[in-house]
Amino acid sequence: SKAKAAKLRVFRGTAAGGDFQNYEVETYPGMVVLDAIHDIQAKQSPDLAVRWNCKAGRCGSCSAEVNGKPRLMCMTRMSAYPEGEPITVTPMRAFPIIKDLVTDVSWNFEMAKKIPPFKPRPRDADGNWRMQQIDIDRIQEFRKCIECFLCQNVCHVVRDHQKKEVFSGPRFLIHLATLDMHPLDTLDRREMVKRDFGVGFCNITKCCTEVCPEHITITDNGIIPLKERIADDHYDPVRWLLRKVAGK
Ligand code: SF4
Repeated sequence: SKAKAAKLRVFRGTAAGGDFQNYEVETYPGMVVLDAIHDIQAKQSPDLAVRWNCKAGRCGSCSAEVNGKPRLMCMTRMSAYPEGEPITVTPMRAFPIIKDLVTDVSWNFEMAKKIPPFKPRPRDADGNWRMQQIDIDRIQEFRKCIECFLCQNVCHVVRDHQKKEVFSGPRFLIHLATLDMHPLDTLDRREMVKRDFGVGFCNITKCCTEVCPEHITITDNGIIPLKERIADDHYDPVRWLLRKVAGK
C-alpha cells in the first residue's frame, strides 16, 4: 500500500527574522512530530535546528508550538492532526529565537539561581529526619517537573507583559511552593516570593496547568496555596513556624 504523506510548515530563521518552509514527509503508525522533524533533517534540510535528547517525554528539551499550542514534539502524534492539512511547527514564543525551532531559555536558569536553596532543620538525635506522609504527598507531584518550560512559554504574564525581571513564571512558583510546603525546610522565602518572584502578577488563568506534559496541577495545588500561605500568615513568624511544623 502507498505510504501516507503529511505536510508540515516549519519556521526557519533566527532572531533577525525568518519564514515558513513547507515540507512533505511520509508518515507511519506511531510517528510523532519530532520524528517528522528528524526526517526533514535527514532528507531535506540538514541545517534545520532542533533541540532534543530523550525522545521519551523525560528530558523536556523538544518544547515547541504545534499548530500554535505548546507541546513536547516527542509526545505529539502526527495522527492527532487532521489528515491533509499542514501541521505548523514554530519555536516557543516567550523566549528569544536562536535558530529555527531552538530558543534561548537561559532566562529560566537565571530565575532558578535566584531562589535560595532548600535549608533543612537539623536531624533528630538518632540521625534521622522525620516527616509526615501527608506533607510528602503534598509536594510529591511537583517533583515530576521536567523543566520543559512549556508553562513558562504559555503564561500570559511572561508572554505579553514581559515582566521577566519581576516575575518568575509558573515553573519557579511551583519550585517556591515546594520549598515553602516542605516540612523540613527552615528558610522563610515569603517576602521574596512577592517581591522578587512576583506571585501577585499571577491571576490564575490556569493556562500553565493545561499545557503541563506531566499533568502537574500547577495553579490549584501550587500557586493558589502559595498565594494563600503568604496572605494568611501576614508575615507572622510564629504562625508560619507552627504551620511548617503542623504541616498545614
Ligand atoms: Fe513543564 Fe509542567 Fe515543569 Fe512547567 S511544571 S516546566 S509545564 S513539566
